[in-house]
Amino acid sequence: ATFDLVKLSEDITEEMQAIAKQHQNIIYQHTGTISTIILDQNLLKSCIINLISNAIKYSGENTFIDFTTEINKKKCTITIKDNGIGIPEKDQKHLFEAFFRAHNTGTIPGTGLGLNIVARYIDLMGGSVNFESKVNQGTIFTIIFVTT
Ligand code: ATP
Ligand code: MG
Repeated sequence: ATFDLVKLSEDITEEMQAIAKQHQNIIYQHTGTISTIILDQNLLKSCIINLISNAIKYSGENTFIDFTTEINKKKCTITIKDNGIGIPEKDQKHLFEAFFRAHNTGTIPGTGLGLNIVARYIDLMGGSVNFESKVNQGTIFTIIFVTT
């Protein structure tokens, strides 16, 4: 159904800011004059929450998490960027596999299921999800839906 992505994103930002670490700031910004999209709101919400949870978990205190949405006539783009531990290059090709965890997670807890669920949900909705990452620099996840 149609819903307001900006409103949803503002709500998620508030919700996730409340559980972020000390001085981890989640900055949300929208670009474009359109704010509504036609997707499953609950599925998309759980994907965004998963990615922001990872950004919080895999980055330290006193860091920024940039969350952006952009909608134009051709596509909708959602990005979540952190300045955290990053993902080792050799682990990157396995990242969306169920139960896979990268080799630099140390004592940070997790089951390795979140991203597998995100990939399945985004696929169900006809979108794509990708990431770029550098160890000790950070990670950016990008979700794209092309308008049909
Ligand atoms: P959970 O099932 O509780 O989400 P998880 O966070 O370990 O557990 P995923 O969310 O599927 O599992 O992520 C898989 C792996 O990808 C993580 O274990 C971690 O190694 C890596 N990862 C995911 N997001 C990030 C990120 N933002 N920065 C660094 N590493 C990440
Ligand atoms: Mg996770």
